[in-house]
Amino acid sequence: MMKQTSTGPAEQADFWRRASRALAGGVDSPVRAGRAVGEPTPPIEQGSGARVRDAGGHEYIDYLCAYGPVLLGHGDARISERVSETLAKGAVFGATHPEEVRLAERLISRFPSMERVRLVNTGTEACMAAVRLARAVTRREKFIRFDGCYHGHSDEMIFSAGASSQSSPTLGSGISAGASHDVLVLPYNDIFAVDRAMRAHRHEIAAIIVEPVCGNMGLCLPVAGFLEGLRDLSRSFGSVLVFDEVITGIRVAPGGAQAVLNIRPDLTCVGKALGGGLPIAAFGGRGDIMAKLAPEGPVFQGGTFSGNPACVAAAHALLDAIEADPAFYERLERAAERLADGLRQIMTRLGLGCPVVQYSSMVDFMFRKGPPHQNMPQARQADSATYARYYRAMLQRGVLLPPSPLELMFLTAAHTDADIDTTLKAAAESLRLLAA
Ligand code: PMP
Repeated sequence: MMKQTSTGPAEQADFWRRASRALAGGVDSPVRAGRAVGEPTPPIEQGSGARVRDAGGHEYIDYLCAYGPVLLGHGDARISERVSETLAKGAVFGATHPEEVRLAERLISRFPSMERVRLVNTGTEACMAAVRLARAVTRREKFIRFDGCYHGHSDEMIFSAGASSQSSPTLGSGISAGASHDVLVLPYNDIFAVDRAMRAHRHEIAAIIVEPVCGNMGLCLPVAGFLEGLRDLSRSFGSVLVFDEVITGIRVAPGGAQAVLNIRPDLTCVGKALGGGLPIAAFGGRGDIMAKLAPEGPVFQGGTFSGNPACVAAAHALLDAIEADPAFYERLERAAERLADGLRQIMTRLGLGCPVVQYSSMVDFMFRKGPPHQNMPQARQADSATYARYYRAMLQRGVLLPPSPLELMFLTAAHTDADIDTTLKAAAESLRLLAA
């Protein structure tokens, strides 16, 4: 049960004044400022199951879900109890903890591509390390990534990226010419562009890094043959194929999207849902590549908080909860389908024609007509002003959506059919208002 608290408009205005004085931009991560929708995400004080409550006492059905990590629902006792017990025995030791090893083993047993693993704190770190390893293994400088995919906020990853990153590869964004020199940014789903780049830069491409199902330009699915083509081209040209499954890793199936799609990358990054809401991520893959990491090899990667017991405990609690429910993913997917089907019916009824995309527990639509978008230029064609109005209409009706059309809706195991029906009613009203 969530505690009832309520602050009035004057207190809320004071809160935002304090926030913007003390925190740069009023936030600790830019998307939360809600520039794309004209207002910041309400300051959330607590969550329970599929719902969150803001400081003004308003309750929302949550589809932001912290941009993906929340998979069981907010405040899940199985996670919080395990973390509390662990913390009582010491928060961090700077030495290998037995539960770390067990977590690595659990990941290896789930992910087809992982022969060995290293635990880190964030998806950013996992992706940086994967590319560093690929460079060391291939002795090549350049790598390929895709416009609209997001692989964290490191210098080489943050420009021409998806989600809410607004960086350009310029000094004005703090990116040196050196950092952008070795990065080739290509259109998602365009295997011919990759083929041309691989031929033009024969023996130069260390890695291709890709979100196998992209959750950072809205929800963008790979077209038939794209990922298979990346697998073939990376193999023929001796490059390392990295799947960034930071979003999809634990969320879509025990072994990630790679298990569903039956493609085995050389390295994989996972994060977000892995920690049941706590910050933990991992990368892993082929044993010969992972052996290059220090101390066995010359590629340094490390971290004070890497594999810390509390986050590791949260990850075990999450995996235990999933394993205890054989129908876990099936039920999540059914809930997402109910939401997606309901949205499709509303779109048809109102003659809006925006395609609704769903993959596992992720649902999205953009305000553009035609078939679902396949790349970032198509995602950019969406009407972002209409999304902002839709976001605000839904917020007023008690539904919290991501504050940007390039993000997507995440479901948790705590979203009930009743929550989804309430959401669909709010969506029908909101979209009717916009269509009028
Ligand atoms: N990869 C993907 C696919 C992501 O969506 C994100 C975060 N949105 C990251 C990497 C970076 O993860 P983090 O924010 O934990 O650094």
